[in-house]
Amino acid sequence: MGRAANRRPRLVAWRDARFELSDLMREYGQPGSRLTPEFPVLALARTELWELQGHVGDVPAAHGNPVPWLDEQNPNCGLAVWAYELLASSEGARAEAVASLGARFFGGSVPEGLLARVGLRASGSAAASRSSAPLELYWSLCSTVEAAEARGDHERMTRSTREQPVRSAAAVRAVLVRSGGRCENPLCAGQPDDVNQNGEPILEVDHVQDRGQWGRDHPIQMIALCPNCHAVKTRGRTRERLRALLLLEARARHSAWARQA
Ligand SMILES: [Zn+2]
Repeated sequence: MGRAANRRPRLVAWRDARFELSDLMREYGQPGSRLTPEFPVLALARTELWELQGHVGDVPAAHGNPVPWLDEQNPNCGLAVWAYELLASSEGARAEAVASLGARFFGGSVPEGLLARVGLRASGSAAASRSSAPLELYWSLCSTVEAAEARGDHERMTRSTREQPVRSAAAVRAVLVRSGGRCENPLCAGQPDDVNQNGEPILEVDHVQDRGQWGRDHPIQMIALCPNCHAVKTRGRTRERLRALLLLEARARHSAWARQA
């Protein structure tokens, strides 16, 4: 949830999650309970809230001894897209989720220290003020894109030494709004901390399916990427796999924002 609230990458590799979770469990777990970071990761994977990705074969039960399987497969894990988007864009949803976790697992409320550690207390008011405005902006920009599509604007060409499709500035802006300033690759290993000359995050908006091949010029198939992820998508050995993942991510984020409109 902290990752969603701060729009950090949605998925994290088991080997990283393991250490992060163990630390938190050591500090905030029930007294006398065992350190079993594998338990939430695998138990949640049986629900619609959570995803495990990149493994082969069936996911073992959380009980028993699934750690060797996790260590060997090192799947990526995290909230499902719809849950991530809901928690990223709605402070109300986060508050409700925190309250029910507190009632169920902490005998009342989640300790403030734990909330701060996972990034759920850092900038409450900033998060609140950006919760509904970007959603409206995203939808008005998408309407602009769709109105231009209906007019046939996307078939227009600019005249230059070679013919290129006209790109919609509204579509690019919409994707940047939706990204919340973070690379939208769910497997991003970290984007530059620096900002550009206008003080904006260093992100490049890209069509998942190339405009050259007449992919639609619409946020539903566009994605904001940091320079590293953009390079992997363009010329990495795993680019085909990443492209498929990004297409799903762009569609899922687009429809997650639609669901709340
Ligand atoms: Zn990235």
